[in-house]
Amino acid sequence: MPSRSPRPAVDTRPSPLTALPGVGPKLAEKLAARGLVDLQDLWLHLPRQYEDRTSITPVAALVPGVAAQVEGRVEAVERGFRYRPMLRVALCDDGPGTVVLRFFHFRAAQVAQFQPGTRVRCYGTPRPGQHGLEIVHPSYRVLGLDEAPLEGTLDPVYPAVEGVGPATLRRLVGLALDRLPDDAALELLPASLREAMDWPTLREALVTVHRPPPSADIRALVLGLHPAQRRLAIEELLAHHLSLRRQRLAQQAHAAPALPDARLSKRLLVALPFALTGAQQRVYGEIRDDLAQPRPMLRLVQGDVGSGKTVVAAMAALHAVASGRQAALMAPTELLAEQHLANLTGWLEPLGINVAWLAGKVTGRARTRVLEDVASGEAQVVVGTHALMQQGVAFRDLALAIVDEQHRFGVHQRLALRDKGSGGTVDAPGAVPHQLVMTATPIPRTLAMSAYADLDVSAIDELPPGRTPVQTIVLSGERRPELVERIRAACAEGRQAYWVCTLIDDSDEVVAQAAQSTFEDLGKQLRGVRVGLVHGRMKPAQKQSAMRAFKDGEIDLLVATTVIEVGVDVPNASLMIIENAERLGLAQLHQLRGRVGRGSAASNCVLLYQPPLSALAKQRLETMRQTQDGFVIAEKDLELRGPGELLGTRQTGLAGFRVADLARDADLLPTVHEVGEHLMVEAPALAERIVARWVGGAARYASA
Ligand code: ADP
Ligand code: MG
Repeated sequence: MPSRSPRPAVDTRPSPLTALPGVGPKLAEKLAARGLVDLQDLWLHLPRQYEDRTSITPVAALVPGVAAQVEGRVEAVERGFRYRPMLRVALCDDGPGTVVLRFFHFRAAQVAQFQPGTRVRCYGTPRPGQHGLEIVHPSYRVLGLDEAPLEGTLDPVYPAVEGVGPATLRRLVGLALDRLPDDAALELLPASLREAMDWPTLREALVTVHRPPPSADIRALVLGLHPAQRRLAIEELLAHHLSLRRQRLAQQAHAAPALPDARLSKRLLVALPFALTGAQQRVYGEIRDDLAQPRPMLRLVQGDVGSGKTVVAAMAALHAVASGRQAALMAPTELLAEQHLANLTGWLEPLGINVAWLAGKVTGRARTRVLEDVASGEAQVVVGTHALMQQGVAFRDLALAIVDEQHRFGVHQRLALRDKGSGGTVDAPGAVPHQLVMTATPIPRTLAMSAYADLDVSAIDELPPGRTPVQTIVLSGERRPELVERIRAACAEGRQAYWVCTLIDDSDEVVAQAAQSTFEDLGKQLRGVRVGLVHGRMKPAQKQSAMRAFKDGEIDLLVATTVIEVGVDVPNASLMIIENAERLGLAQLHQLRGRVGRGSAASNCVLLYQPPLSALAKQRLETMRQTQDGFVIAEKDLELRGPGELLGTRQTGLAGFRVADLARDADLLPTVHEVGEHLMVEAPALAERIVARWVGGAARYASA
């Protein structure tokens, strides 16, 4: 193809929005606040709804609740002030019937427009009024005597941008679309592939989504299931997949010290008071194989709460120690880190290994000493919180970085810990540590392959023997008084209980208040029971001390918000009540319930709900009642969850998707993987451009 005229540079950032007529610095700033910076951002600012102004509905054919466009003459106008100003305009067309347009705020000029006999075209949703159907605040236009042409496409309704009116936004997107380059410049997916899959080109897809023809399937568009949207989602998912794969390649281009020495791990195995489960053995085997390689392990271990991830991590750490190097284990909260410290100290010190502790509250002399030990290599295994990543923490030879509950951190933090080892050592210059990340939030396999495409994924899908399954019951909130009695009885037997207050969609503050008043109520009703409280509004030190008191058995009943979600282990707690359980997602319910059933006592979980239950909520609670397997629950979650956040962005380190939705578009993922692997090999330059287009800034982590 002759290329005399230069093509617009699509993949180096497209023109900034200030290049559009009418976009000055002020407007640009408002758009930027919403992440709309250049033309491409507007192309990808997709409508959430459509209005059909391509045809006129006769007044007599209007249906309550169904938006429509009507056209007619003003028959009568009434301006009133009953409780507030009001303007009513009766409109009729050639057929029988009248529709009333009703306004509650209006200007005098508007009133003057509606002279009887004037032709008006308006759009809105009719509803039954005092005298037949009425439309409240329709969008409307006064017509002249000439023919007024109808729209040729459906009108998009865009997600609002603060400080920018809908008309302005629509105009800007229109202007941006007018500047769409031609297919040859815009399209990145190979034609062979598009044709094989029967996907529209990117240009076609964007035009369809922004300016759908009257014949378009609006329902599909609104649900995000139209082929044009699927085409966009595919490309976006592909971009993220490629970006993660690229990160992986970049990481594996580094060297890592090979850690094949399993002697210490074997000694631990012999010393442990229990035998590893089959799943633990399998996953340890995978880790051992990774560690034996001279390139960095990048492995995620998924396993339900209580599946025994920590001991597997300890076995891995011992490979580093056996080679005379260091391992670090980082946890998201101090309490969790302390728990790891207690476990690791108990297991490793008898083997003569020095386990060090570094958290925010380790200060002064103690901190100086720890830092010295970390720097000299005296500290062979270092356990801690975010404090491990801080400046001034320098390892002598960090060979393995372990991150627990990795969804609480981001990818960048994981890399920050890894960077504590970069530089390498004399015998392995430029080496980086192996990385092991652990999560107690299992996600379905297809999702894991996408969300963690930069990692190998292992699953500990078996619980240690001897755990009594948690009995889960679902109860209407009206039965709360019985529950209070039940708690009294349980505490009298020396059991401990959690009472979880949840109020989704409310601020921390409101939830904290609810927890506070539940705490006070239960305290009054349960004389003699020691009741404690933790919520997100408390200072970290207060929170920790309440949790610790509970752990130490000084509190019988802990009233809490969902802050207790993360892996704290109180084996004696065997009763959990979750209020408003119908409002929580499956993943969260499962996480919460995982706090009980950790000891040998039979445990109970009571899911309290406020009737009436929606069909979906009913299914969620029923799933909870039926199974305790996190992997089964995750699959069910994916099935039940509509478009939504199965995965937080922090969990994956991915920036939020613009178009794709991992839950809704999960069925596309196998194709995405296949195409992604193909492109990486066959067309790396193209792959690079796809990543640049969709991931952009997020790809900066890839350079590492
Ligand atoms: P999680 O996977 O939630 O991090 P932990 O590692 O905290 O689980 O393990 C939960 C408890 O189970 C700990 O007390 C641990 O010592 C114990 N445990 C781990 N593996 C086994 C096993 N194979 N048999 C018996 N108990 C085990
Ligand atoms: Mg754990």
